[in-house]
Amino acid sequence: MGDRLRNWAGNIEFGAARVHRPETVEQVQEIVASAERVRALGTGHSFNPIADTPGDLISVAGLPADIRIDEARGTVSVGGGVRYGDLARVLDAEGYALHNLGSLPHISVAGAVATGTHGSGVGLGNLATAVAGVEIVAGGGELVSLRRGDADFPGAVVALGALGVVVRVTLDVVPAYRMSQHVFEHLPRAQLDAHWDEIAAAAYSVSLFTSWAGDTVDQVWLKRRVGDAPAPGELFGAKPAGGARHPIASMSPVHCTEQGGAPGPWHERLPHFRLDFTPSSGEELQTEYFVARADAPAAFAAVERVRDLVVPALQISEIRTVAADELWLSPHYGRDSVALHFTWVPDNDLVLGAVEALEEQLAPLGARPHWGKVFRHAPRYPRGGDFAALAARMDPRGAFRNAFVERYVGAE
Ligand SMILES: Cc1cc2nc3c(=O)[nH]c(=O)nc-3n(C[C@H](O)[C@H](O)[C@H](O)COP(=O)(O)OP(=O)(O)OC[C@H]3O[C@@H](n4cnc5c(N)ncnc54)[C@H](O)[C@@H]3O)c2cc1C
Repeated sequence: MGDRLRNWAGNIEFGAARVHRPETVEQVQEIVASAERVRALGTGHSFNPIADTPGDLISVAGLPADIRIDEARGTVSVGGGVRYGDLARVLDAEGYALHNLGSLPHISVAGAVATGTHGSGVGLGNLATAVAGVEIVAGGGELVSLRRGDADFPGAVVALGALGVVVRVTLDVVPAYRMSQHVFEHLPRAQLDAHWDEIAAAAYSVSLFTSWAGDTVDQVWLKRRVGDAPAPGELFGAKPAGGARHPIASMSPVHCTEQGGAPGPWHERLPHFRLDFTPSSGEELQTEYFVARADAPAAFAAVERVRDLVVPALQISEIRTVAADELWLSPHYGRDSVALHFTWVPDNDLVLGAVEALEEQLAPLGARPHWGKVFRHAPRYPRGGDFAALAARMDPRGAFRNAFVERYVGAE
């Protein structure tokens, strides 16, 4: 392993000639204007070379957090390097909340929305759907502001870093709410197909964990808002867990958010892992595919057809749901989705074998991969041509283009 900068998982060594850590927007503008090729780097939690450039990599972690709540508009605006966990603490203290969070609070807001990062909930859009405005340092170093309602806005949120460096993000907020979390174990596999719609909608946010190996789904996590219908005594044959659980049943739950029905603030129940612990140090790879929520049983069967390749590479799989949106490069564009996530062992050969097999099985369902995780093929998006045209307007000299964007983004 050399001295070059790597991503969180350590599987990607960035090829950038220079890494910058500017502390002001003006410094970002100067670096962009004078760089031939340039990209933004958030918290580096993506598992593929999406953030890489042969030129200048700009870490936004040094930009001021500058968290500003606008009570009249019901929004909060934050600097381009702020992490969800840090924002959530400030919001909750002021009586506000976000509609949802991903599993890990350590990830930056700008980096998460750039890839369509999501939590779970049949009625909940991905995290990018909360974005009400962005300020972007575009290809010539100029600052461009886009707000919801602007014609280009739906192309500028899940933008893969291809339009410029996001130096400010404005998010919708809602009044703070309290939640509780219940874990159920050993859901009979047949019940998952028979009652998929009811299970997916059994709480505000539902996550299922499975190893695809046996005839049960290991765990179902129900995250309910206090005041919603009470948690069931039993869930289609799954029984309440006898104590706290880690998604991988053999691991200690000490880093997990509180379970067992104890009420607590939204930001201490929506993520699976606690902000004050780092749950793992990158000893994993991740892959995730999205298909229409109604196709979930067909997708589960597709995974099981290649179980022999998946199981040896797998630590745990998570099944979540995401509501449809209108963001051009969102993996959930125009489609209520089921998310099939795979946390792999850190073994490239095993993982790529499983990924190839999964993609072959899931292609007939129009599967779209998570932009920030390990994958080989991505279908073209209905608005991919519009996105390419927007990128050409905001970055005419192609400073933000990289091999990843060139390979995966363009007209259908
Ligand atoms: C342990 C772990 C748990 C995860 N859990 C979830 C989950 O629950 N749900 C889910 O959907 N995903 C999850 N992910 C994936 C993760 O959310 C995405 O990879 C996300 O993009 C990472 O954000 P980041 O700030 O690290 O971005 P990076 O990896 O640093 O960058 C990703 C992309 O965003 C761009 N970017 C970053 N910052 C900016 C900026 N300021 N301006 C313009 N472009 C920018 C980069 O250029 C790049 O194209 C998880 C990843 C890990 C490692």
